[in-house]
Amino acid sequence: MADPRGFLKVRTRREPAERPVEERIRDWMDVHAESGLQPWTREQASRCMDCGTPFCMTGCPLGNLIPEFNDLVYQGKWEDAYHRLSSTNNFPEVTGRICPALCESACVLGIHQPATMIKNDECTIIDQAWQLDYVKPMPPHRLTDMTVAVVGSGPAGLACAQQLTRAGHTVVVYERDDAIGGLMRYGIPNFKLDKRLIDRRVEQMEAEGTRFRTGVEVGKDISWDELRSRYDAVVVAIGSTVPRDMNLPGRDLDGIHFAMEYLPDATRRVYGVAPVHDITAEGKDVIVIGGGDTGSDCLGTAIRQGARSVTVLQIMPKEPTERPDDQPWPTYARLYQRTSSMEEGGEYLYNTDSVNFIGSEEEQARVTVEHAATAAGFVADEHGHVTGLKVVNVAPGEDGPFTRQPGTERVLPADLVLISVGFLHPDTTTLVEQLPVELDGRGNVARDDSYATSQDGVFACGDAGRGQSLVVWAIAEGRSCAAAVDRYLTGDTELPAPIAAS
Ligand code: FAD
Ligand code: SF4
Repeated sequence: MADPRGFLKVRTRREPAERPVEERIRDWMDVHAESGLQPWTREQASRCMDCGTPFCMTGCPLGNLIPEFNDLVYQGKWEDAYHRLSSTNNFPEVTGRICPALCESACVLGIHQPATMIKNDECTIIDQAWQLDYVKPMPPHRLTDMTVAVVGSGPAGLACAQQLTRAGHTVVVYERDDAIGGLMRYGIPNFKLDKRLIDRRVEQMEAEGTRFRTGVEVGKDISWDELRSRYDAVVVAIGSTVPRDMNLPGRDLDGIHFAMEYLPDATRRVYGVAPVHDITAEGKDVIVIGGGDTGSDCLGTAIRQGARSVTVLQIMPKEPTERPDDQPWPTYARLYQRTSSMEEGGEYLYNTDSVNFIGSEEEQARVTVEHAATAAGFVADEHGHVTGLKVVNVAPGEDGPFTRQPGTERVLPADLVLISVGFLHPDTTTLVEQLPVELDGRGNVARDDSYATSQDGVFACGDAGRGQSLVVWAIAEGRSCAAAVDRYLTGDTELPAPIAAS
């Protein structure tokens, strides 16, 4: 620990500055003005108390060696810091940018001062490492004659593939999309995560020996059972892609889309790739239902596309704050985090629930009549375009989390509505038909503690097994799953396994 009194001398956090809102909403580049090594980086790293029991490391699913790398940042020892960091995290350039920093919520300094800057140190270390040319391909010293197919190229599949390749196995990653990266590629907008960061990693992985097959949907272009017979092991890392719908009257009006029909096209256009659904917010009144990560990304994207207005609806009771009064430590990182998109415009309506979608005047009349007439709810038999959404205030209720408040109904204008209320489970239709793995009660691929499914030699990791989650959990699962596959293939493993399957 280089400066044992650092946290007493520097009592405030210094976040990397963001570009002015007026500037950044005119492009799709990173919202930050400051990235990489800054004059204040070492001083901030000195705030780490090097606790005897570093709760931050337990907070991080990867078990990142946080006090060690904070000290090395303070000392400016970038090569050592890079080796410490990359021993636990395959893609720190991603987590260093978009992780909600579960570690910082668990930082002991956070009891009486703002938490240590862990996530930013992680980002600085890896940015320095790339700039100073420390990041090299790490091909295996010897090859086994074992082969593994990894289906899905999100952070779980990629972390698993990189670990298994480095252990000497021949690994092929299958991806149905036209580019590698999973949600990091077309789900998360470019202003949060520049796609060139993924390209750089894929190049490193190719140089190590991992092979990639894009535009191949397993289950259609090659069957799951054929894949299983061709490879010694198969890893299912297909994400959790089936969106939760809203069974409200008027749902099948035109102009109502799932967030993940909308967001990927925006990034595709940035990179000159043809859009799939061709939805844009330009000139429209946009309503985003649901204010999590995905809803916030819809907001920032719609603002950049030139929406006339953007309203985000959230049932959550109050505006996020840095730290709720009744929650001194650890803080609930995700629930109370403000996003950069929230500063860029639009309006958040809290305590607000959706009642029904409204179409043209005739459509609205039909919605009302038909909904009243059918116990099962409204079923539209012809299409109109959405013109609004009826909403109502809610308040915490005695018999349930939220109760609608009579007399507060009103209609918000909308010609584009984006549904962003979460994801149910992976799309396992062809998998279960062709290679019948068991599913858990939520529809995720069931695994035992070591990521093995009910089919011999078939493993599952990431959102496919745990449900829609976070990049850091996906990387941690991918690493652990690789260790399990390696043990299955060779009878033993030296690969790290940071977490058991949940
Ligand atoms: P995914 O990233 O979903 O990758 C699965 C891949 O499998 C996809 O590329 C898919 O095309 C492919 N695939 C599926 N079926 C097949 C098949 N049959 N054949 C071939 N390929 C197939 N997390 C954070 O930590 N921070 C954030 O800021 C954040 N923002 C988010 C924003 C949005 C809009 C969304 C939707 C999620 C966000 N997340 C965020 C969550 C995070 O992206 C996911 O938890 C993570 O990507 C899961 O990784 P994965 O590898 O399990 O799956
Ligand atoms: Fe913290 Fe996330 Fe980095 Fe882990 S991966 S150290 S939780 S920012």
